[in-house]
Amino acid sequence: MGYINIHTHSPMPNRNISVRSYQPGELEELDVSENTHRSAGIHPWYIENVDKSFNQLIEALEEDSLLLIGECGLDHVWGASQDLQESVFRKHIELSEKYEKPLLIHCVKAYNEVIAIFKEMQPKQTWIIHGFSGSQQLMEQLLDLGFYLSFGKAITNVKSKAYEVFKDVPLDRIFLETDDSPLNIRKIYEKAAEIKQIDVTELETCLVENFNKLFG
Ligand SMILES: [Zn+2]
Repeated sequence: MGYINIHTHSPMPNRNISVRSYQPGELEELDVSENTHRSAGIHPWYIENVDKSFNQLIEALEEDSLLLIGECGLDHVWGASQDLQESVFRKHIELSEKYEKPLLIHCVKAYNEVIAIFKEMQPKQTWIIHGFSGSQQLMEQLLDLGFYLSFGKAITNVKSKAYEVFKDVPLDRIFLETDDSPLNIRKIYEKAAEIKQIDVTELETCLVENFNKLFG
């Protein structure tokens, strides 16, 4: 069946289903034969040449060469000014709705804002929070609103918040990812299955169902 890596920045030369994330500017030099799905978005750490970046993003959306939009989002610790981050994030949301692509969100200490924007804009597309690491209460709030949560390397650390909250997250609302870590996605699946006390194959089945539900 294979593992699904919903968010990575590196090429994955194997049978796994991976969604590799690009900055829009990188799409120009892309080897389209590469056997991965693609996503693109303006990361809140690297907001520059906004008009050009959005044109490149729109071009890719017009060609229908992206599986989803992102990563994009809000980061209250690093990156551009909050006003700029928010206007760029809102533009991604508009594109996600227009082109009917789910959104993969980078959110650091900005959950109140992301939730407020979600309630205000009432998107039809699914929002996936990548690298989720929050409280149980926040998890429940996000799940109630229809979000999916993606977990990565942090769940391999038993002292992390991600590890704690992963114990309780429902399997039908999650994805797994390597992001920028060199870990193999298989390691994350093994750890996730161990925390959930299920077989890795059962976890594979769940994530394939989640993937098919979102991406047909
Ligand atoms: Zn990332």
